[in-house]
Amino acid sequence: MQTEVVLGIGGNKGDRAAFLQKAMEALSQQAMLVGHSQIYETEVWGGVATAGNFLNQVLLLHTQMDPMELLEVIQGIEVQLGRTREQHWGDRTIDIDILYFGDQVWDSPSLTIPHPYLAQRSFVLQPLAEILPKKIHPILGKTTLELLAECTDQGQVSVWKQAN
Ligand code: ADP
Ligand code: MG
Repeated sequence: MQTEVVLGIGGNKGDRAAFLQKAMEALSQQAMLVGHSQIYETEVWGGVATAGNFLNQVLLLHTQMDPMELLEVIQGIEVQLGRTREQHWGDRTIDIDILYFGDQVWDSPSLTIPHPYLAQRSFVLQPLAEILPKKIHPILGKTTLELLAECTDQGQVSVWKQAN
């Protein structure tokens, strides 16, 4: 059975766009990539990271994996792309988070779905609104657009344009 999965990817260390691209390529070898948002540039969130602004993107995939298998796959890709887990919310080359797994609700010590901070982060809600404006959060019962309208996150989020 195929499940529609939504992933948030982001990073603020090294060649940020290249890491997003590599993460998307690695993920598309493990699941079927069916859509993606534009890339957004985001002010640091949570007050920990220091390497500069993040680039963030939301991906839509179809997979036959279960949530724990997917978590293992994304953590393998994070390691493969040079992510070191130094500090929660700290600088990183790549962070891959499971935002939604179909309409499933999952709560275990290593995995919470929907992602617990989804509704508090405009850098997640804005790209999500681009590709899934009407998706309903299975716990909050609201669409992405409704969550975005209610979100009080003041961090600047804007579509990223590659300097050339
Ligand atoms: P963060 O993404 O909050 O900055 P990390 O990427 O270091 O932090 O993740 C910390 C832990 O969060 C992971 O080891 C993973 O087990 C757990 N986790 C819980 N729910 C999720 C989820 N929905 N997606 C990804 N990781 C999750
Ligand atoms: Mg993470």
